[in-house]
Amino acid sequence: MLRKNAIRRVLGFAILLSGLSHPMTGQARSAPERSLALKGGTIYAGPAESPITNGVVFIREGKIAAVGGRGSVKVPKDVPALNCSGLTIVAGFWNSHIHLFERKWADAANIPAPELAGQLQTMLTRYGFTSAFDTGSAWENTRRIRDRIESGEIAGPRIRSTGEVLVGKGWLPPETVLKTLGFMPIPLPEVTDAAGALAASKKVLDGGTDGLKLFTAASYPPFATLPGEAIRAAVGEAHRRNKLVFVHPTTRDGLLAAVEGGVDIVAHTTPQSGPWDDPVLTAMRQAKVALIPTLKLWKYLLRHDRASLGDLSAQTAVGQLRAWVASGGVVLFGTDVGGMDEYNPSDEYALMAEAGMTFRQILASLTTAPAEKFGESARLGRIAPGLAADLVVLNADPSRDVRAFAAVRYAIRDGKVIYESAR
Ligand SMILES: [Zn+2]
Repeated sequence: MLRKNAIRRVLGFAILLSGLSHPMTGQARSAPERSLALKGGTIYAGPAESPITNGVVFIREGKIAAVGGRGSVKVPKDVPALNCSGLTIVAGFWNSHIHLFERKWADAANIPAPELAGQLQTMLTRYGFTSAFDTGSAWENTRRIRDRIESGEIAGPRIRSTGEVLVGKGWLPPETVLKTLGFMPIPLPEVTDAAGALAASKKVLDGGTDGLKLFTAASYPPFATLPGEAIRAAVGEAHRRNKLVFVHPTTRDGLLAAVEGGVDIVAHTTPQSGPWDDPVLTAMRQAKVALIPTLKLWKYLLRHDRASLGDLSAQTAVGQLRAWVASGGVVLFGTDVGGMDEYNPSDEYALMAEAGMTFRQILASLTTAPAEKFGESARLGRIAPGLAADLVVLNADPSRDVRAFAAVRYAIRDGKVIYESAR
């Protein structure tokens, strides 16, 4: 009798927990729930593939088991299904430029699970980001967030991080400014020469980060540039460990120094430099860098100034992206959310379309291009049998209006629904 009561108490507690946790927490679900069928939507299995109308995606054990037209995919009767009629199904998105350094993420080990899951949803999963690359934050804190997600305690995206950013001496704004911006105080390694850059890179990478992030020019006048030998030392150390290097270039000099130094990913356009001319574009193309445009950011940073200034800044960046895409360059979608507290990516999609990107090119920047750059194309980026079931179900078809990429009905990671919108 005693035992029965104890079991009841435990069960009652478990039921209470599962009630509290749905739908944002509690990824560790029962086995049948690892199977799921999406029925009736228009499927873009990859950026280059023809749409499948009235399609089915069958998920088993968290992976895609089959995808195709309704008549061609057999789904066992007991598999739960989501009705996706009238909706559009694409692979899970990457946001390749985010930050987890707003104060809301501090002391990540002790943020209550529903609150932490809610924050991840507000910034990322409600917009379909099932993967995100944090390009600068307090690494040990970010690692705790990632660990809590990966343990199954809370629902959230796959997180990669560069940890603490390498900057030049005195390049960081004063702490009072960072406080006003709502950011956590994070001591960053300041480097001036090759030896310092090598030591700082070793320290950051030894911590277990997924790459490095450098500022190669200061954000403030007179826009000092990091010496080329310091950039090469950092890049050399990262590449020796098969890790990627992101750069915040700021200026034309900062951009050229970064590209010549061998960085992999240019994390911003550079509206301050004016349009990119042929020497800049050629240097970027020859170095095979990928570009993260962050177009909306430029308007946001000038939001207290006259609207025409913000528009000019964004339009210069749109022109840079247009030239980069026309030259055949690789683009990774990224918005700098966390640094920017407007999380909705809809305007970014519209600006990318203004730069001449088709919806298929934007889809590639969200899925296949980052999967390839980050060495994940065997597992992520497309809807194909054997790949992880990371999927986004959209309320509308982005081939008609790219803003539909932001209108998410369901975000699914490893076959689990980690975000569901109110209808
Ligand atoms: Zn950033």
